[in-house]
Amino acid sequence: MDKSSPAVRSVLIVGGGTAGWMTANVLARHLGAGAPGGVQISLVESSQIGIIGVGEASFPSIRGTLAFIGLDEARFLREFEGTFKQGITFVDWLRPPGSPGANHYFHPFSLPSQRPGAPELLPYWLMGQAGAGRAFAEATTLQKRLVDAGRGPKRASDGAFAGTMNYAYHFNAGRLATLLAGHGRSLGVRHLLGNVDRVQLDEHGAIAAVHTREGAELRADLYVDCTGFRALLIGATLGAPLRSAGDTLFNDRALALQVPYPSGDTPIASSTIASAREAGWIWDIGLQERRGVGYVYSSRHTSDERAEEVLREYVGTAAAGLVPNALKLNIGYRDRQWVKNCVAIGLSGGFIEPIESSGVGLIETAAFLLAFGFPFDGQFEPVARRYNDFMRGRYERIVDFVKMHYCLTRRTDTAFWVDNAAPASIPATLRELLDMWRWRTPNRLDFLTDLEMYQPASWQFVLYGMEYPTQLAAGAAAFPRAAEARREFEMIRQLSQRALDDLPAHRALVERLCAGAEAPAGA
Ligand SMILES: Cc1cc2nc3c(=O)[nH]c(=O)nc-3n(C[C@H](O)[C@H](O)[C@H](O)COP(=O)(O)OP(=O)(O)OC[C@H]3O[C@@H](n4cnc5c(N)ncnc54)[C@H](O)[C@@H]3O)c2cc1C
Repeated sequence: MDKSSPAVRSVLIVGGGTAGWMTANVLARHLGAGAPGGVQISLVESSQIGIIGVGEASFPSIRGTLAFIGLDEARFLREFEGTFKQGITFVDWLRPPGSPGANHYFHPFSLPSQRPGAPELLPYWLMGQAGAGRAFAEATTLQKRLVDAGRGPKRASDGAFAGTMNYAYHFNAGRLATLLAGHGRSLGVRHLLGNVDRVQLDEHGAIAAVHTREGAELRADLYVDCTGFRALLIGATLGAPLRSAGDTLFNDRALALQVPYPSGDTPIASSTIASAREAGWIWDIGLQERRGVGYVYSSRHTSDERAEEVLREYVGTAAAGLVPNALKLNIGYRDRQWVKNCVAIGLSGGFIEPIESSGVGLIETAAFLLAFGFPFDGQFEPVARRYNDFMRGRYERIVDFVKMHYCLTRRTDTAFWVDNAAPASIPATLRELLDMWRWRTPNRLDFLTDLEMYQPASWQFVLYGMEYPTQLAAGAAAFPRAAEARREFEMIRQLSQRALDDLPAHRALVERLCAGAEAPAGA
């Protein structure tokens, strides 16, 4: 250890969106910010530049993060208009609307059933043992039927963050940062308001201070850039380039609407509904009092005016009088998200389009990497190298996973879908995997599982939701347990009926949990 290095005693986070406040909470909790001798965590945010305010769907890891920082689940649901998300329903991704064949598939968060000693079900499903027309997610999990029937993933009496099914949340993104801010302050985070307009470097090219328009000079040992797409520290000041993923993933625009329910008792969907359209896809997210609906599209394949028409057509008469929020997206990531004494977290580090909700999940990953690898001794280089390798690897894997949703399409009705299936747009790493999976199913040894955000099962649900034609004939001798597999499929069918009887309607569950939520401090 270099004894002349300064110890790291203070962290300044610049930016107060989801990335800034989630990082602040995780660091404060892990580093004992409020306690004597703890590392001081400060966060400065502009009162003039708003947060992006979209991103209403999460990934199951968020339950662990909320529990880690000490937020109560019921309070989270009540204050964020939160609801449960059990997966994603993909509509019209494989074939154009109205074509013969299935028009949707489901990517559930619960894993395929695997009872100890029972055969792995995927090969038998591929060989038709689950019965004709039974989709992979329905044949191997209970969750597809529960979501179709509008059920929640748990009973109200189940413990916080626990449930019969695996789940994440839908929530009001505008409010997330506000609740996390209050909670962060209670954990000892110092909250400052100011517009950073100058970043001062030292003689080694590291950040020495940030200056605000209001005249404050803020110094820390380590800086976290959470300024969103502006990337004020990591990009504009330190010059870490953004590697565009635009040749692979084309969507670079979004239009978002907040659509009220027709009545207070309208059922709430407990999956994100992702409907493919001529030049992108529409998200439809059920919150407690409204839906969040948005069109993510490629400006190379449609105009903003046409995109708005498509979105309005989808929403119908409820869109009358609503004005969409228009966003430009930088799709890509920085190879170096940690440079000298500055770490980028959130949109400043990268963004892969919103299908599969990787945004908040990546913030959680980055915040925990920083907290658990915290360079107390000021030796940034080795920690930065590991951090950069890990984050770059994770982004690369997400790009492949997301591209798989598009490139397996059989749609040829618009240039957007044709271009998405063009081999030149598919990363070599993904092509290699797809080639192997023509003759055998994906298994966990195909993946460095710590690097992957999405489990092998998620790859399977999407691959076979898109009806990928894996041919098992060459290895058929390895699957002699068809009778057992058929019994498993039948058992899953019966259990899903029982789960339907057992679990409450989604809206009723949310309302019951919110009614029992503890009041926030001072309320
Ligand atoms: C269309 C779209 C849909 C998305 N959907 C999802 C989804 O479903 N699920 C998901 O997980 N993620 C989603 N995301 C990503 C998600 O929205 C972001 O990852 C998340 O909100 C984090 O944003 P952020 O905090 O990095 O940036 P922002 O919310 O933009 O916050 C930036 C902060 O920096 C501050 N700031 C900027 N400049 C300065 C300055 N000069 N001085 C002081 N402060 C400054 C601002 O005031 C603000 O507080 C989506 C993103 C988009 C664009």
